[in-house]
Amino acid sequence: MSAATAGALRRWRAAIGDAHVVTDATALAAAETTTYRTAQRILALLRPADVAQVSACVRIASATGVPVYPVSTGRNWGYGSRVPPRDGCAVLDLSRLDRILDYDEELCCVTVQPGVTQERLHRFLREQGGRLWMDGTGSTPHAGPLGNTMERGFGLTAYGDHVGRACAYEVVLADGEILHTGYRGWPGSRSARVDRWSPGPQLDGLFTQSNFGVVTAITIPLMPAPELTQTAMFDIAGDAQLATAIDAMRALQLDGTVRSAPWFGNHYRVIGVVMRFPWHRTAPPLRPELAAAIAAENGLAPWTGYAALYGSAAQVAASRRRLLAAMRGTVRRIEVFDDTTLAAAPISARRNVQVAIHRAYTGGLLNAAQRAYWRKRDPAPADADPDRDRVGFIFVNTSLPFRGDDVVRAQRVAAEVILDHGFEPSFSCHSIRERVLQGLSTFAWDRDVPGDDERALAAHDEVARRFISNGWYPFRLGLHSLHLRDHAEPVQRRTVAAIKAALDPAGILAPGRYA
Ligand SMILES: Cc1cc2nc3c(=O)[nH]c(=O)nc-3n(C[C@H](O)[C@H](O)[C@H](O)COP(=O)(O)OP(=O)(O)OC[C@H]3O[C@@H](n4cnc5c(N)ncnc54)[C@H](O)[C@@H]3O)c2cc1C
Repeated sequence: MSAATAGALRRWRAAIGDAHVVTDATALAAAETTTYRTAQRILALLRPADVAQVSACVRIASATGVPVYPVSTGRNWGYGSRVPPRDGCAVLDLSRLDRILDYDEELCCVTVQPGVTQERLHRFLREQGGRLWMDGTGSTPHAGPLGNTMERGFGLTAYGDHVGRACAYEVVLADGEILHTGYRGWPGSRSARVDRWSPGPQLDGLFTQSNFGVVTAITIPLMPAPELTQTAMFDIAGDAQLATAIDAMRALQLDGTVRSAPWFGNHYRVIGVVMRFPWHRTAPPLRPELAAAIAAENGLAPWTGYAALYGSAAQVAASRRRLLAAMRGTVRRIEVFDDTTLAAAPISARRNVQVAIHRAYTGGLLNAAQRAYWRKRDPAPADADPDRDRVGFIFVNTSLPFRGDDVVRAQRVAAEVILDHGFEPSFSCHSIRERVLQGLSTFAWDRDVPGDDERALAAHDEVARRFISNGWYPFRLGLHSLHLRDHAEPVQRRTVAAIKAALDPAGILAPGRYA
């Protein structure tokens, strides 16, 4: 261990207490593990208790040149979890900063620290009477809204674009200073929590998908619970119907009929919600014909789409009429359901799928991580933790124009490559901004099967390469895909590097992450 590293550890211990500088081999090995193969080694886990301690940790990193890698709740599953891009970082684990700092029922917003989980926020909102919804993210109740926003993650309600709505960041800079963005940085501003557009350059954007600062609080707008939510489910027969359905849905988004995030997924994606790999029927990979047959046996179509309608009963009825008129004829079947009809429906795989999506559309607490256990032979535990359980799972994501033709072509590219590599090509896309679809190609494997880790990374790289050659670039990078940022034009990369050099001259914040 170098003198600088030993000095940093000694000073961190003095700043936040021995017990919160963790160096035991088991804890480090856990933090070095994600849902695919990695080789990076971690120096320590730092667990500060408050913003002052975060600032102290960062100052020490700057003074000694020993880097830190901030994580909030640390469940960045499918994208690298807590593993830093470079060896020798101390993971700055912010989970002890777990306070809800402020709640405004009138203006419908909440200010949270990094350690506040979805579960905690959901419970808190229910305790306040449930009039306001959070927008839930699909992975696990133990992930958090702040960490998810740092990665520009998404949910499916009308507030699904997390980074588009969050504001008032509190950021610890590399020199330990504390920056407030927007009106939060204008002393006494009465708009601090609701208006990011203070005069001058907009700073929030610098701190997501970057390594320019450590974010220690953000304000999140909450969606007023509508009087009624109805979810429409579309059974889609195949690629031709998928293309027309997506084009029809674009019009419904652009004219405001559908304010939720419309979602479309193939049969692999949808059966993965309600079952594991059918070992009793086939060896991997599950071929498309058998996947379609299994979907049909469970009342599910080759493709499924969803969109939720919000408002008063009269508003929802009017939106429903418009939606049915636009979508009828483009798909095989449309079914509309809500809390009342779901409660009365007999249990079936189809109903279970409907319950899961309706929960996502109504500000519910989601727990989808078990889906990643698709290829594991043992049942997924209730407290699913893919890192711990050697579950293989990876995202190849891509930004697509909201056009049926792009989606159909992209999913075909992904399916061909992923099946060729021996995995099941799950594909979904959703819209959190009216003109764009976020495509998510995923596949799961068992990390205990020799060779699968290597094949999975090769499949990822090949899908990403083919996506890019078609002009479909990623919208979020994981540890496995950080190299894809090199596709940006040199002047864009130089500009980002110049901002990094100005804000973090010693390069001690998450080196190698995005910038
Ligand atoms: C089955 C499954 C379903 C999923 N569904 C969704 C979904 O619906 N929507 C979605 O968006 N994602 C989804 N994910 C991906 C991922 O699990 C979530 O995005 C999750 O919210 C990220 O983990 P986290 O919230 O614990 O964030 P963290 O892991 O804490 O943070 C994510 C990253 O942001 C950076 N970061 C974190 N905190 C800070 C900070 N305070 N300052 C600076 N940088 C920071 C770090 O680089 C960190 O690695 C899914 C994953 C799986 C396996």
